[in-house]
Amino acid sequence: MTDRLGSPLAEPLFDRLLIVGLGLIGSSMARAARSMNLARTIVAADASPAVRARVAELGIADVVADDAAAGARDADLVVLCVPVGACGAVAAEIAPVLKPGAIVSDVGSVKGSVVAQVQPVLPDHAHFVPAHPVAGTEQSGPDAGFATLFQNRWSILTPPEGTDPQAIERVRAFWEGLGSNVEVMTPTHHDLVLAITSHVPHLIAYCIVATAEDLEQVTEQEVVKYSAGGFRDFTRIAASDPTMWRDVFLNNKDAVLEMLGRFNEDLSALQRAIRWGDGETLFNLFARTRTIRRGIIDLGQETAEPDFGRRKPGEA
Ligand code: NAP
Repeated sequence: MTDRLGSPLAEPLFDRLLIVGLGLIGSSMARAARSMNLARTIVAADASPAVRARVAELGIADVVADDAAAGARDADLVVLCVPVGACGAVAAEIAPVLKPGAIVSDVGSVKGSVVAQVQPVLPDHAHFVPAHPVAGTEQSGPDAGFATLFQNRWSILTPPEGTDPQAIERVRAFWEGLGSNVEVMTPTHHDLVLAITSHVPHLIAYCIVATAEDLEQVTEQEVVKYSAGGFRDFTRIAASDPTMWRDVFLNNKDAVLEMLGRFNEDLSALQRAIRWGDGETLFNLFARTRTIRRGIIDLGQETAEPDFGRRKPGEA
């Protein structure tokens, strides 16, 4: 796994890039796009005046626009980096000013709902190529971002049927420029895959941390003191942004409920194995799951370090 970006492009891919929402993902994109010379001018827009002020202070964009529409006027590529539930409203805001041939994309963790919100409000002369970088941390805000966030991670494009192939290729080149590997799939398939690989695991983490907090026989002090026994890793995931994750579950309801149904059945089988002292079932399942972690490490999506392999931004 490499944490260094490659050489900057000799010629930028886009003249004017507008990023709407300069949180963890948007500010990482601004930093990486600047380092890799992906756009001649980087424009930032954010609903929060405090975020706009901080972005100006950090100097991670060339222009900080007063609002998304002002920033979208001459943009060649607009990327919506706002919570999934806000994508439709932002698309409606920028739609009247988009120039012919402008490409609109997003980074939302759910794709079916984003396509349903955004596609109908965009003008016919703009192209829509939804994307989801499968990369992140539990942090939020413009200070949390770092240029190597997308390095060697997967970014999934889910273009609706009939999308201009050239627009898809330009968005692919943009993500590759940010350091990602790119895959294309349908929004429905994306939402099913991410329900099991990301959404349900987050729900389990939120749930187990809340359950531990509600316990009466075990004190909160003990939970913290002995957290290295497994709980600590769940608390990292359960510290993720509440707005973002509320929107994920509200917008990927069917796929999450389908996967939760299966999870509940498997959990009941484990519960039964424990009740009946069926060590063989437990051992076989644990041996099978261990190989999945090894596979993730072999594919460079995690390190074998016991601390979850998380390095601080900027560390090699
Ligand atoms: P974040 O750090 O909370 O940043 C979101 C930013 O968007 C905030 O500054 C927020 O301002 C702003 N915003 C909210 N509504 C807006 C609107 N209507 N117009 C303009 N700006 C608005 O969130 P994030 O983690 O970067 O997530 C952004 C998107 O990336 C989400 O769709 C998420 O699903 C996706 N994503 C996240 C991760 C991850 O690990 N975090 C990974 C992959 C994809 P306020 O602070 O004032 O609300």
